[in-house]
Amino acid sequence: MGRPCVGGVVPPTMGPGYTRPAASHVTWATTFSATLVSTIFLVLTAAMQSAGGGSTSLGGAPPVAARPVRASRYRVAGCRSRGTVAYLHGPRVREVAIGFDDGPARDTGAFVTMLERSHAQATFFMIGDEVAPSYRGTLLRELHDGDVLGDHTFTHPYLTTHPREVRGQLRRTMSVIRALSGYTPCVFRPPYGAYDKSILETARSLGLATVLWNVDPSDYALPGKAAIERRVLSGVAPGSIVISHDGGGPRGQTLAAYPSIIAKLRARGYKIVTIPQLLGFRPLYVPCVDLCDGIGVRRSEVPREAIIEHAP
Ligand SMILES: [Zn+2]
Repeated sequence: MGRPCVGGVVPPTMGPGYTRPAASHVTWATTFSATLVSTIFLVLTAAMQSAGGGSTSLGGAPPVAARPVRASRYRVAGCRSRGTVAYLHGPRVREVAIGFDDGPARDTGAFVTMLERSHAQATFFMIGDEVAPSYRGTLLRELHDGDVLGDHTFTHPYLTTHPREVRGQLRRTMSVIRALSGYTPCVFRPPYGAYDKSILETARSLGLATVLWNVDPSDYALPGKAAIERRVLSGVAPGSIVISHDGGGPRGQTLAAYPSIIAKLRARGYKIVTIPQLLGFRPLYVPCVDLCDGIGVRRSEVPREAIIEHAP
């Protein structure tokens, strides 16, 4: 695969017409009603299990106690985006979001390990056609770590010259990511930064915010670890979105550059966040009594800003 994400197309500049929510948190009422519904669900489940479990009190035998119900857990299932323009950066706060494009690929697991060692999270914009079942563990590991999965189309075309393909390219990618990981993306990065108003609107209709970048070290051109580091560090400003690549070719230089980039950004006072976090998009969590995929968390571990929805 030799498909660099960035070609000769300079992304049109559109104003970042967003406003960050003043306070993104789950209200008491929302929390209460989610808890109440979960409780009712668990009670009903316990009653059904008891009824079907041969319980009897005939003949004076002691009633069989209902099996203890497993504590309800929750898993991340997506995020909720908004906005009708393409985001080049976030609010001018001391945060930076890093996006890795064109995976999943051979090096993606190493990128996840690098992020774990750096205690940082990133946003992975995936090519749907590359999302093979063998990457299921990698995707779940990313979700476990707090990384975000984004849509980078199914086959990486220039969408502006293939307008009839746009919806299908986005939907197929969302679908394959969801089928493999249980997570539905809410952010989309157009290949080569090529987009227009119609593409923005189609993405929006699918729940996807279109996200570009304002720092590009051109790591796909393999300029060397030192150049990648220097370009990122010289380009970052508060609210920056950085584009790099975990797929589409050998990515050892990028992989080697980021531990130092992350450490030096932190030394300057920057917090490393995901793109949804930078843009104020809230994560979605669902109850997962049996389908937690190893990434279920206790209610108390669900992020405070999360939206909790009922399982589909
Ligand atoms: Zn790309």
